[in-house]
Amino acid sequence: MHKRPLNSKAFFIFIPPTFNTIVIMKYIQLLFVLCFSLSWVVGQDLNYYLPQDISYDPNVPTPEEVIGHEVGEWHVTHDKLVEYMKALAAQSDRIAIENRGSTFEGRPLLLLTITSPTNHQDLEDIRQNHLKLTEEEISRNEINSMPVVIYQGFSIHGNEPSGSNAGMAYAYYLAAAQGTEIETYLDNTIILLDPSFNPDGLQRFAYWANTNKSIQLNPDNNEREYHEVWPGGRTNHYWFDLNRDWLPAQLPESRVRIKTFHAWMPNILTDHHEMGTNSTFFFQPGVPSRVHPLTPKENQELTRDISEFHAQALDRIGSLYFTEERYDDYYYGKGSTYPDINGCIGILFEQASSRGHLQETENGLLSFPFAIRNQFTTALSTLTAANSLREKLLQYQNQFYKNMRIEASIGRNRAIVFGDAKDAAKSWHLAEILRRHQIKIHELANDMTIANKQYKKGAAYIVPMNQKHHRLIKAMFERRTSFTDSLFYDISAWTFPLSFNVDQSDLRSLSNAGAEVTEQLRPTGSIEGSSDYAYLFEWGGYYAPRALNTLLDKGLRAKIAKYPFTANGRRFDYGTVLVPVQNQEMEPEAIYNLLKELAEENLLQIRSVSTGLTEGIDLGSNEFDPVKKQKVAIIVGKGIRSYDAGEIWHLFDTRYHMKITKIDLSYLDEVDLSEYTDIIIPGSRNKFPLSDKSAEKLQNWVKAGGSLIGYRNAAKWLDKHKMIDLSFKKDTLVAKNISFGDKEKYKGAQETGGAIFNTRIDRSHPINFGYKNNNLPVFRNSNIYLEPHQDSYNNPIQYTSSPLLSGYISEENMKLLKNSVPFQVKKLGKGRVIVFTDNTNFRAFWYGTNKLLMNAIFFDQMM
Ligand SMILES: [Zn+2]
Repeated sequence: MHKRPLNSKAFFIFIPPTFNTIVIMKYIQLLFVLCFSLSWVVGQDLNYYLPQDISYDPNVPTPEEVIGHEVGEWHVTHDKLVEYMKALAAQSDRIAIENRGSTFEGRPLLLLTITSPTNHQDLEDIRQNHLKLTEEEISRNEINSMPVVIYQGFSIHGNEPSGSNAGMAYAYYLAAAQGTEIETYLDNTIILLDPSFNPDGLQRFAYWANTNKSIQLNPDNNEREYHEVWPGGRTNHYWFDLNRDWLPAQLPESRVRIKTFHAWMPNILTDHHEMGTNSTFFFQPGVPSRVHPLTPKENQELTRDISEFHAQALDRIGSLYFTEERYDDYYYGKGSTYPDINGCIGILFEQASSRGHLQETENGLLSFPFAIRNQFTTALSTLTAANSLREKLLQYQNQFYKNMRIEASIGRNRAIVFGDAKDAAKSWHLAEILRRHQIKIHELANDMTIANKQYKKGAAYIVPMNQKHHRLIKAMFERRTSFTDSLFYDISAWTFPLSFNVDQSDLRSLSNAGAEVTEQLRPTGSIEGSSDYAYLFEWGGYYAPRALNTLLDKGLRAKIAKYPFTANGRRFDYGTVLVPVQNQEMEPEAIYNLLKELAEENLLQIRSVSTGLTEGIDLGSNEFDPVKKQKVAIIVGKGIRSYDAGEIWHLFDTRYHMKITKIDLSYLDEVDLSEYTDIIIPGSRNKFPLSDKSAEKLQNWVKAGGSLIGYRNAAKWLDKHKMIDLSFKKDTLVAKNISFGDKEKYKGAQETGGAIFNTRIDRSHPINFGYKNNNLPVFRNSNIYLEPHQDSYNNPIQYTSSPLLSGYISEENMKLLKNSVPFQVKKLGKGRVIVFTDNTNFRAFWYGTNKLLMNAIFFDQMM
């Protein structure tokens, strides 16, 4: 049936003369609808969300006309959302739509650019003009005539869907609303509407909520609809929290967003979330003491100015809310904080989640439409705020970049050089991140050595400090160890040169800066000479494990050097891979061709040798250990930390191109494990979810030769089941002079939310093969502390006596951490049990410690 939104009485009273014909037609249509669609009024119609004192263009399709259900009646699936946005764009000359890329599951990453039809005709000029605000000082007169740019994004956590569902109603409003107010808004605003920040997660959650919906909406909290199955729709395809990836920009969804951000340099960016069901509504500002010190105080003042518009709008519809509590503005990898280091104002919204369609809460029944209405209302109050504060926002941005130019032009250190002389790939991937954020970097003109750190052209880059995104560079490179608050909503450190484990030095001049880096300068590997005897490549390259895995997949034999040696006058380090040419299943020429391809693909330097005689271990020595093809499984399922599991899945699948079998713990006990060489157990969220029966099964499998790799609290579980003997350091913390009111703060201060620590490594141990320095920065967000083993050679990785490199840790925890160990391995029967107390694969940007897991997989037999 053809349906139109039902407009309020006000609509009939204020009839603008120019709209007479439309209005009369609409009136007739309305009577028609009223007569035939009474059943439709069950639940909420579109009017519930929309302002009622204006008229709407009847030619603009409503969501229901396109997708077959009313907003809030069902959870919109991403494909229907796309269908509607396309239909809207096709009909409205206020909307341009583009597909900026796709998710891992192939869903489009849409962007709607919404403004007046006149602005659309000059959009590129408007954009260029707007960007000038970040490049040069603009006169007040000129600023006052410019439109403001707002970037509004929804439901980055897929199971917080009221945002995207509200986005549909909001897009309808922007396309269909009539009258001078909306026309003024559209004239003065460029709206970048990102209807779904996380399409794969939104789709996954919509499936869950819809398939469990009953006709008799059931608000009982025990109803299955409100208890989503693991891993839930919060995350993207590989179970990443996309709202932590704005700075690392490792995932396709983030990359297009960052691109849009820098193409437009918006003035406000909004991020619509949901929180616990018993909450109300939150909008920023967050906790005042928890704002990152690099964010200017004017940013928070403007945030406060904007917040008044949200408060008024929510007051009007009677919704409760809170500000300045719980959420903060610290980690720049979040959507509402990333803008703050870029001259923009980031705003976080959190709506109490109905999770499904209707749920009982402490605040009464919470319906999905109610959640959607709050999101719609604040999307609209953002537009109102942006218009009222337009000149102020534009001036702030202009001033922010003016200050930045002054700040960038002073200071003794003119540049930073970073790189890893043995790993062009890792250096390049860090360079890529900087370039995604529009930070200019240069190649080296020549190799250089600074304080014993070697920087090689092609594997090192120079970052000039005097450039537009000066402060963003600081935010990515700085090490911070003192803080005004001891609570953090997320991690307290993300220093990129540490997460990449690259060398870094300050430069006083740019004299060694070569060409500015572009995609064309991507380094490549090579093979040096062909041989009928053998080939060698070092393990230092980030993608060396991928090359080794391909060789083993193709049935070739390879061996690993347990000691360094020198061949052809060149030194080869621990873990060098030897590929003999004779007695292989491939002809010498085919081996050469394969290695050439692998060198190029994996940015490796592969060398041929024609003799087995070396200085040090000869190529036929028993100190070269054979390495077998690996078959790896990972335990996943309810109770396991899905983030940690997803990071490992993503690492194997997308980086190392290795198959990894995800075995759900619900059927683990029935699986024949004998074919697996390695099984990984990520940490669990609370109580460890594996059964005693699984413990016994895994123990038998280890004794028969398997390698079991446990992360974080899996260490405790493995210890409890006598698969490894560990001794844990425990805190003996007793609260003294802490009031009840300060209890939460006191306990929170003992959380290690995520900081970076220094370890000393024993490079002769196979777990550390491929590392060239004697220290390795590691990430830690757990409070598990292992005593070192009594025999020093069993402590290949050990926290130093003063380990804090960047981030927050309490004094009490620091005492426990000093000289403790994050890694242990024990031989059990024919197999090994390996534990890591820390996450070596954190959020896909800890390139520096990824190799530890690969070493545990490939070199376990040597440990
Ligand atoms: Zn969220």
